[in-house]
Amino acid sequence: MQILQEQITSPPIHPSEARADSTGVLLTVDLDALAENYRRLDRLSGRATCAAVVKANAYGLGVAIIAPALHLAGCRTFFVATFAEANDLRDVLDANGQDAEVFVLNGISVQDAAPAQERRLVPVLNSLEQVAAWRTSATSQPEVAIHVDTAMSRLGLPLAAAAHLLSESDLYEELNVTALLSHLACSEQPDHPLNRQQLESFMALREGLPPLRSGVANSSGIFLGPEFCLDLVRTGVALYGANPTPDRPNPMAEVVNLKGKIIQTRQIDRGMTVGYGATFTATRPMRLATVPVGYADGYARALGNRGLGEIGGVRVPVVGRVSMDLTVFDVTDVAPGIAVPGNDIQLIGGAASLDEVAEAAGTISYEILVRLGARLKRIYISTAEHT
Ligand SMILES: *Cc1c(COP(=O)(O)O)cnc(C)c1O
Repeated sequence: MQILQEQITSPPIHPSEARADSTGVLLTVDLDALAENYRRLDRLSGRATCAAVVKANAYGLGVAIIAPALHLAGCRTFFVATFAEANDLRDVLDANGQDAEVFVLNGISVQDAAPAQERRLVPVLNSLEQVAAWRTSATSQPEVAIHVDTAMSRLGLPLAAAAHLLSESDLYEELNVTALLSHLACSEQPDHPLNRQQLESFMALREGLPPLRSGVANSSGIFLGPEFCLDLVRTGVALYGANPTPDRPNPMAEVVNLKGKIIQTRQIDRGMTVGYGATFTATRPMRLATVPVGYADGYARALGNRGLGEIGGVRVPVVGRVSMDLTVFDVTDVAPGIAVPGNDIQLIGGAASLDEVAEAAGTISYEILVRLGARLKRIYISTAEHT
């Protein structure tokens, strides 16, 4: 809650006012781009409800600002992972005078049924045991969603168990089942045969059941086509600007941008080394620029000798290991007078896109996003008033 308080006291500022802090780092979160992405995904999902996934503090971007901005963009259904996140989200929405449905993907312990019902936090039930516990809970006809596993083997009822359960008419007297969900395993690979198999298993399950609001698609699932959108889609990473269609250009607007000011430059000779472990050796005379961002800021250590930034329109590679608080770039090929102390290197965004940085780090944009706020203060920007 302390984090939430801090975010509430940092309202969005106009992009032209966004300045690096005294350490020379600027992490911005563009709320206009976020809203544009929400509206675009909502349009693409046709008649389906477009729900926003704001688990893990809105993928590390700060749920206290992100959720109200999404609500302003039209979002009225949210998903989080845990009951604690759901309570925080409800606090945030209440504080902003906003109302919305809130689903909890990892379920809610039946001991918390009463406060959950009072605050309208809806558990996604993932096993027969959870369903059984909620059927006998003290609250009357609690609202729940049911998650069916069609390929993930992670959470959710197995298909056969779900089919049996959902055919019991008593179930609907004991529980107010407001949604039936499944989750796609390979949605970012449009040609993967599992996508259609999962959809077909899910549709077969639904046949003959009372009409239940249904959904299988995450961000990439929306781009598989209208038949995957059903009644409800759950979009997370695409809202925050990552590419939901990795084999095509990114259709989403950039939300997250990280820049670091050059705090030192130096010329090194052929044969000299850079950084811990001397993992990089100059093969020619080189000019280097040091930026005050490191793995403690969420700039992945795996980017050592693999990452890239951008300055003056030139892509500049990371040389040597990323340190806790510092990273060194090879700026030899940048025009004179540009890669000088006080000027910015673009670390994430622009020509060093989030997805490309993630790939260079051997991970996915999700993981880069959730780690970015570790030390850096997020500056929210918007040309509109978001209060
Ligand atoms: C995290 C999550 C999502 C959102 O996925 P994105 O790929 O970020 O859109 C949707 N559904 C479930 C069950 C999730 O765990």
